[in-house]
Amino acid sequence: MSSVYDIPEVEERVLSTLNKDGSRRWLRPRLSPGKFLIWRRIIGYLLIIVFVALPYLKINGKPPILLDIPNREFTFFGATFLPTDTLLLALLILSIFISIFLITALLGRVWCGWGCPQTVYMELVYRPIERLFAGRSYHSAKTSIPPLRQAAKYLVFFIISVFLAHTFLAYFVGAETLLGWMQRSPIEYPTAFIVVAITTILMMLDFCLFREQVCTLMCPYGRFQSVLLDRQSLIISYDSKRGEPRGKKRKEENLGDCVDCSLCVLTCPTGIDIRNGLQMECVGCAQCIDACNSIMRKLSKPLGLIRYSSQEAMESGKRRFLRPRVVIYPVILCVVLVLFGVVLVNTGTADVSFLRNRANPYTLSDDGNVTNLVLISVRNRTTESRSYDISVVEDAKVSSVDLPLILESNQSGSATLHVTIPRHRFSSGRAEINVRITDDDTFDKTYTHRMIGPLFGGADSPSSEESPGGSGS
Ligand code: SF4
Ligand code: SF4
Repeated sequence: MSSVYDIPEVEERVLSTLNKDGSRRWLRPRLSPGKFLIWRRIIGYLLIIVFVALPYLKINGKPPILLDIPNREFTFFGATFLPTDTLLLALLILSIFISIFLITALLGRVWCGWGCPQTVYMELVYRPIERLFAGRSYHSAKTSIPPLRQAAKYLVFFIISVFLAHTFLAYFVGAETLLGWMQRSPIEYPTAFIVVAITTILMMLDFCLFREQVCTLMCPYGRFQSVLLDRQSLIISYDSKRGEPRGKKRKEENLGDCVDCSLCVLTCPTGIDIRNGLQMECVGCAQCIDACNSIMRKLSKPLGLIRYSSQEAMESGKRRFLRPRVVIYPVILCVVLVLFGVVLVNTGTADVSFLRNRANPYTLSDDGNVTNLVLISVRNRTTESRSYDISVVEDAKVSSVDLPLILESNQSGSATLHVTIPRHRFSSGRAEINVRITDDDTFDKTYTHRMIGPLFGGADSPSSEESPGGSGS
């Protein structure tokens, strides 16, 4: 009788990356040269160049993407977003999600196979290096890579991971800061050092250990495929009508075009057999298309036994482009983008907020005038230094030692104003004033501010000096 710890063998493989006894099945996919591999390499290496180069480029004096968490500023291609831009950020994230839904509905998992960093770095950087060090032993399950070459391979993986981890950090601190830090001791910058160390470890774990399991078991996007795809979405499919019955004994039987060479399975980076139909593990890398086309070429058969198609087209021969989701998604996307544009245009080049002295909201002087202390905070959202002037439009006395307010790019500052207006302007303890804020360029906005004063605004009202605490609102 078997012990409770014995794991029973299943009849067939449950996951493409597991052996029947539950142990890890290490995949060593064959490289299948072909048209799609050429295009994937062009696009993939261009994406890598863009990722590495972006922190070194400048738009309006800033990198195109800078996620400055300590200062809570997020820069995207010249536009800087602040935590106060909640609506803008929400609209931006919403538009990214809707775009993903639309692209997936139209082109299936094109992102996974052609643009996702996991696939791009695994298949175009780490895997080719591994093949190089392994040589002929790469595809043999029995032969392992000699220890010295194995160590050299991991050393190269480590160097690349350290480089990528530094590049990743540059998106948060900027390339110049990073280069400065790299010339000094890590003890001076422990947080940055820890971030780089953790990122390097995670990359090593990912590209040396987890590999395709990140796509097949961990990635949430892969899990959503069943709801994001429909029968018209572009997927990589096997033409079973043409290919079946499959078999090698071509002369003896009336077989389909599939010669059951298994090359499409051996080349698959997630280890699946596309002939079993659409599977969640398929990342749409098109390696099986290149592999099968090479066989069809040798057999002088038409290409495309495995090809980009849709479930509907494979079954009925017809492909319908227009359907509700490819109309609804772009409409919602347009609405969100228009809203984003409107909010962005109205954001202006400065953020302004008003505060009042809650402890002592107003002072009533003997001559019948009421003075409020108004604190005005300004944030310069431009990429240059600006000088801000603040004035009150109505007949009011304004004094401040803080004006003009000179602020560097993205700097915040505040000015304290003593604003005095006649008592008769107050009604029910309130009076509105218009505060105009201008800079030395194009910013010119007028804000309405409510001043706090005595409840009785008439000339015959009590006129003693008052300073009621806590009544400001
Ligand atoms: S590569 Fe083509 S011919 Fe070979 S097993 Fe796959 S589908 Fe059949
Ligand atoms: S089935 Fe084909 S397209 Fe899908 S992951 Fe495997 S090789 Fe790539």
